Amino acid sequence: MATIPRLYVDAPLAEGGVLALDDEQSNYLLRVLRLEDGAAVRLFNGRDGEWSAQVQKVSGKRAEATPLKQTRSQQGQTGTRLTLLFAPVKKDQTDLIIEKATELGAARLVPVLTERTQTRTVRTDRFRKIALEAAEQTERLDLPEILEAAGLDAALDALPRGTALIFCDEAGDEAEAPWGGEAGRARPMLDVLAELKGRPAAILTGPEGGFTSGERAFLRGRADTWPVGLGPRILRAETAAISAMTLWQAVCGDWDQAGT
Ligand code: SAM
Repeated sequence: MATIPRLYVDAPLAEGGVLALDDEQSNYLLRVLRLEDGAAVRLFNGRDGEWSAQVQKVSGKRAEATPLKQTRSQQGQTGTRLTLLFAPVKKDQTDLIIEKATELGAARLVPVLTERTQTRTVRTDRFRKIALEAAEQTERLDLPEILEAAGLDAALDALPRGTALIFCDEAGDEAEAPWGGEAGRARPMLDVLAELKGRPAAILTGPEGGFTSGERAFLRGRADTWPVGLGPRILRAETAAISAMTLWQAVCGDWDQAGT
């Protein structure tokens, strides 16, 4: 059975309140899906849960939707308390990070401009569009918050108090390195996660060129920062971000629930 289309609407959802859909949403329903008058859709807005709704064709190009009944409650949608701090990389790979972070339930995405970040112009409006489409597809009831790009210090300063920073460090664990030793040993991520259950967390991944030794020394000396290794191979930035979020979800997140 084809799934009933799902749309994010930035409007209150209540029985009978007719919602005018924008050009893009109207085009998607009427032209792409070729829905007829009275067709069923599902609406969510990040606040009022998910609602069954009916489409009305206003013209060949414009549609409205009338919410009928709430079918999923927003309550209990703890969402996850996971922030992803990622250094933007090439466009397609960054788009992949945004899409997968949304599917993996990240609550907040922060593009971080580290010393070796090559991509300095960041289109957060584009990121928000990718995240919205991914949220519709992945059956989320909310959208991740996407913050404007920030330098490393500013991004870390903006983290809510008590957030554990999981620093994905490709340098792994070199005790004799200046940033090594007891304070800054990098441990396998699973070992670290076992100690972080129940805590809000932020995962930090670097750019294609990785972190500089100055950034590494700063991060490993920072309070509540947990340097982790993701195995013996060097992963692409997008692979590292997706892998780290997957591990966090499996141990600390909402994957302890059965499917949707
Ligand atoms: N240029 C770096 C090098 O060759 O060592 C690799 C950087 S890697 C492409 C991009 C980011 O992915 C890293 O900064 C780190 O955050 C993460 N990463 C990649 N492999 C990792 C690993 N084995 N352990 C922890 N983090 C890793």
